[in-house]
Amino acid sequence: MDHLYRATEHKPSGALKAGSKSLVLEAVSKRFGNARALDTVTLHVEPGELVSLLGPSGCGKTTTLRLIAGFDFPDTGTVHIGGTDVSALPPNKRGLGMVFQNYSLFPHMTVGENIGFGLRMAGAKKADIAAATKRMLDLIRLPEYGERRIAQLSGGQQQRVALARAIINDPSVLLLDEPLGALDKNLREGMQFEIRRLQQNLGITSVMVTHDQEEAMTMSDRVVVMNHGRVVQVGAPRDVYDRPRNRFVAEFLGAANIFACRVNARSAQAITVTTQPAGGEPGVELTLPLPQSLQHDLPNIIEAAVRPEKIALNAPKPGHRQFPGRIVQHVFRGSQHSYELDVPGLGSGVLAYQQAFSTDHVGHARGEAVTLSFAPHDMIALEPDEVPLSAKGGHTTFAGHASPLASEGAR
Ligand code: ATP
Repeated sequence: MDHLYRATEHKPSGALKAGSKSLVLEAVSKRFGNARALDTVTLHVEPGELVSLLGPSGCGKTTTLRLIAGFDFPDTGTVHIGGTDVSALPPNKRGLGMVFQNYSLFPHMTVGENIGFGLRMAGAKKADIAAATKRMLDLIRLPEYGERRIAQLSGGQQQRVALARAIINDPSVLLLDEPLGALDKNLREGMQFEIRRLQQNLGITSVMVTHDQEEAMTMSDRVVVMNHGRVVQVGAPRDVYDRPRNRFVAEFLGAANIFACRVNARSAQAITVTTQPAGGEPGVELTLPLPQSLQHDLPNIIEAAVRPEKIALNAPKPGHRQFPGRIVQHVFRGSQHSYELDVPGLGSGVLAYQQAFSTDHVGHARGEAVTLSFAPHDMIALEPDEVPLSAKGGHTTFAGHASPLASEGAR
């Protein structure tokens, strides 16, 4: 599998300031003892772009950030910032700004002193520090807070101060390590927009590590999905969500119905497959797009994914695939209804999400017979994961949950 990605054609959505710099990791590998933390990671971050690193615990996100920061050094490969090789430079020579989950503010200093700290260390003049600090306080919308103690701030305010402290020196790259991890959900959402607004207005090239898929999708120009120290897929959030490369990405970024299929025929653009439901039940024949990545190496058995929200109930459209099914479980989640269905030819436990408040959706009861439908292009043929298909068992899955609705008050 090719683990090297480039996206030089990518345009960041924010303003591009004159000094915005690119960040390039080229074939970076890192071992700790016998453990391979990073394996030939190549990543090109465009000037002014915000890229998020996403992946399960231990996949190498923090190690990547530490290598960019200079807290660790790659065994092989290089790190370039603005075209300069910084691989061997210590952190303070790389011109970076950093924001951590725990803020790392100095409690004995005022807010203003915290924000101006970097400029003071750099030997800037008092008047310049005062002017820059004031500008930062305005930027983070805390203009009256300069004289306050850190302990007198809320978590969200402290994180804004940490952000101001990180960007006052006009860093070439901003590193955000779980910046919102310590905040509760409501505050997090507000801060996501706040950080994004600042990052875009200032055009700062940024790399963020987060455990929160939704956060990465909301805030980033591109997401980098990692697993086992490798880059699995890079792309705009929508593209990676809608066109996951393999089962791992499909399941990591939300819920997915995944069907094992035998390939019957192929053309340049499409494949015809027969689904293989569990228990030897007969499958159905389907035609779906053939992704570029499978054109040269198409296995006989593949997996295909359909996102639950792409499945319509009792609303077939011309050209869409239709299947009779029966509702097995129903959960109301506030903004949507989640249904689990038995569908001859596709299997049991097929998930479908329906918007709760659309006027044409009245809800379906358990046992009700319905017609499922989805557009042919919403079924995505997946590349094999690095684990062989035969070792994975099961034909249908729900983003890692054995029974997605069972534990949520299904009725
Ligand atoms: P998490 O989401 O849990 O923070 P992560 O994706 O950031 O995980 P890393 O911290 O980069 O993962 O770790 C990648 C791998 O390298 C893991 O297997 C980890 O145990 C190992 N590792 C990281 N730092 C060290 C170290 N200093 N010594 C030994 N092994 C390490």
